[in-house]
Amino acid sequence: MRDKIVAGNWKMNKNLEEALQLVNELKVANVDLTPKIIVIPSFPFINSIVNTLENSPIKVGAQNCSTQDSGAYTGEVSASMLKSVGAQYVVVGHSERRSYFNEQNEGLAEKVNQCLSNGLTPIYCCGELLEERESNNHFKIVESQINEGLFNLSESKMIDTVIAYEPVWAIGTGVTASPDQAQEMHAFIRALIAQKYNQQVADSISILYGGSCNPKNAKELFSLPDVDGGLIGGASLKSVDFMAIANSF
Ligand code: PEP
Repeated sequence: MRDKIVAGNWKMNKNLEEALQLVNELKVANVDLTPKIIVIPSFPFINSIVNTLENSPIKVGAQNCSTQDSGAYTGEVSASMLKSVGAQYVVVGHSERRSYFNEQNEGLAEKVNQCLSNGLTPIYCCGELLEERESNNHFKIVESQINEGLFNLSESKMIDTVIAYEPVWAIGTGVTASPDQAQEMHAFIRALIAQKYNQQVADSISILYGGSCNPKNAKELFSLPDVDGGLIGGASLKSVDFMAIANSF
């Protein structure tokens, strides 16, 4: 069976003290849970949070990484640096990176490769804009994001990825994809993987839903056959909400 995962993307929120407070609350609250729980703070806090979470099953991820190994790339953070401070996951291709920082599928494929070459699991994000759904192009868009960002991987690398389907119109808006919309797209993505690789690979990859997931709607979303958990933004910033979501399987 594939992993159930709840990952909290804190985005550019919290200072060190606030970040450690949240993580200490999660550490205490984390008992007997089904999913893998991942917290994804800003770069400067990763190491302190990894240390704080020693002996806890909660894992730590990063929100981005460089396409490059090392060298004269001022302001960049490499996958090997993230590995060296204890990160295990990296969000690649979040819609905010795609839209504000003009990240394209081609460069994201390089980031995915960097993660996998350095023993990190990429959480590869895909999802359509509202106008793309309204013009009935949502499957085409997600297919090209998956195809160009992930499908250059060998089968043995592909099985080490996690995918997050995040319709852009649902991120931070309070509008959630309906269960039918989420299941339909998740099944579509899984079918693409089966077609490119095989059914066994498709069945082994966790596909998370992201977009205004909260303690009220998580149970219904997570009960869908092709939804393996969530990538959570706003609701991951409060321990009580995040743990309620993590307890929704
Ligand atoms: C996200 O940014 O990945 C996200 C899902 O945000 P929110 O939960 O706030 O919609």
